[in-house]
Amino acid sequence: MFDFLQMTLSGREPQEHSGSNFNLRWRWLAQGVLELEPLHGYWKSVVLSAGIHGNETAPIELLAALVSDLLHGKRRLQVRLLVIFGNPAAMVNGERYNQIDLNRLFSGRYAQFPACAETARAEQLEQLVRDFYDQSNESERLHFDLHTAIRESHHQRFGLLPYIDNGVYGRPLYSRRMLDWLHHSGIEALVINQAPSGTFSYFTSQHCQADSCTLELGKAQPFGQNDLNQFALINQGLISLITGINMLPHAAEPIKVYRVTQELKKISEQFQLNFPESVKNFTRFSAGDLLARDGEISYQVQQSEEWVLFPNASVRPGLRAGLMLVQVPTDSLFG
Ligand SMILES: [Zn+2]
Repeated sequence: MFDFLQMTLSGREPQEHSGSNFNLRWRWLAQGVLELEPLHGYWKSVVLSAGIHGNETAPIELLAALVSDLLHGKRRLQVRLLVIFGNPAAMVNGERYNQIDLNRLFSGRYAQFPACAETARAEQLEQLVRDFYDQSNESERLHFDLHTAIRESHHQRFGLLPYIDNGVYGRPLYSRRMLDWLHHSGIEALVINQAPSGTFSYFTSQHCQADSCTLELGKAQPFGQNDLNQFALINQGLISLITGINMLPHAAEPIKVYRVTQELKKISEQFQLNFPESVKNFTRFSAGDLLARDGEISYQVQQSEEWVLFPNASVRPGLRAGLMLVQVPTDSLFG
């Protein structure tokens, strides 16, 4: 049986492009893209992706182990599953990306950039994911895009929920079942995005009507050096999700929910943060605190409390240099 991760990193193709064991059949669809389908009955279509940022290794290793167990018949698959290693070329180089951040290019935004390997990959992944969901009728569609961060965080593991325009579908904003699963899988906080974006999870939510979430799962090390214990709960969560066997503990702490209240947009090279760039994600600021200056413009905390996420003053002008969050009640997830 082939090693899906090693094969992806080597750029080779498996000798056979499909096969089966007593439980499932698999199809190799492209470099880093493998479809697995139970032989008998299923009730969900699940997409699991990692390596959209090539240097975020730990979730790639988790998915590689999961695929290996499935191909070797060690676990019984109960869902249709599409496993994606997003950016193999960047994974090989140990880089976040080579030319353009792949996670800005989905929902057709690849067409707005000069063609390169990453614009082609975004287009290819969109098509493969659409086809995967369209080939089956069952109603529950899920997508979890697994990431890790460089920065320390007051919440070790958190999820970014794609913006949903409630007016379009009239459906409840986010699925309670997904929220329960995230909570029991060790996700401590959720952030609701307030605008469309080029992320993979926004694409699957908006264009495939999947319940989707980008998961930030802690800090990553180079391949082989990750402490996978740090990822034990999400690993159990993923196994429970695809085998239908619930082995998740009861979560003690309620999940915290935030929404984006303002963006720190870098307009010019004069942009400067008014706090050390090394602050942890979810550091709290109080009303009136000066957050950043950009020439004549200043950004201040407008609500009584705001929390910072992904501050980065070194982005190109025109891009966002950080997000500010407010806490909201859990019920605001459901419209
Ligand atoms: Zn990432």
